[in-house]
Amino acid sequence: MAILKVARMGHPVLRQKCTTIEPDQITGPEVQRLIRDMFETMVDYAGIGLAAPQVYQPVRLAIAGGETDRQGRPKFRVLINPEITVRPGAGQLGMYEGCLSVPGLRGWVERPDRVNVKAYDETGAKLDFDLDGYPAIVVQHECDHLDGVLYVDRIEDKTKFGFEEEANRYLDPEELE
Ligand code: ZN
Repeated sequence: MAILKVARMGHPVLRQKCTTIEPDQITGPEVQRLIRDMFETMVDYAGIGLAAPQVYQPVRLAIAGGETDRQGRPKFRVLINPEITVRPGAGQLGMYEGCLSVPGLRGWVERPDRVNVKAYDETGAKLDFDLDGYPAIVVQHECDHLDGVLYVDRIEDKTKFGFEEEANRYLDPEELE
């Protein structure tokens, strides 16, 4: 296992469309090692999610958190080749987002709050599930990375973009996690 370096905004790896992983490669050693290293990296950086291009691997693999299991512990999902669709009746949910590739900054982004996710998991099994609220935001943020999109691209009101410390102090602190 290894803690990987996280690419920062400005590096082209964060701006490319990532390639699909062949389903029969998922249980192979390369993908399995990447998943383990991404988990270790995400935990070390205290992230709520991580996408493969953030560790310089432009493939369609992301880890997304924001959910809790029955015991109330944080739950993370491995998503390979994910497809997200907005569900009928979705509203917009806004919050200050942050990103390990944009360290120290936060910005206000609004996204649909009800989505369906189809993906493969780390065992190669097909997943099809719905997410509402905060975990729906996290999964959209992570899957954006697979298309070379960063949350900063989605900030409409640039006055709601700033450094973490200042954002906590001045920019609608109640909305922060
Ligand atoms: Zn991110």
